[in-house]
Amino acid sequence: MTHTCAACKCEVEKQTEDQKNDIPQGWFMRCIDETDYVLCDVCGASIHFRGAISPYLTDCLQLAEGARCDMSSEALKLGRKRRQRRQRG
Ligand SMILES: [Zn+2]
Repeated sequence: MTHTCAACKCEVEKQTEDQKNDIPQGWFMRCIDETDYVLCDVCGASIHFRGAISPYLTDCLQLAEGARCDMSSEALKLGRKRRQRRQRG
């Protein structure tokens, strides 16, 4: 079984049979305009999602203008990290 990047169409073999995650290691599941896209380590990199979705991804995924990626789950993770660092005794 292989996974295919939604943007560049590169493929990677599923690494293990009992892999819990649905996507290969280093890859990303990005929710854009309420659609989940599996993106490789290159296409799913956060650099494509700074402020707005990059023209490259907009083109490859044929997104509507002004499409938005839901980064809330990642933002939550970051927030948790920040809170841990801020802990005081
Ligand atoms: Zn890709």
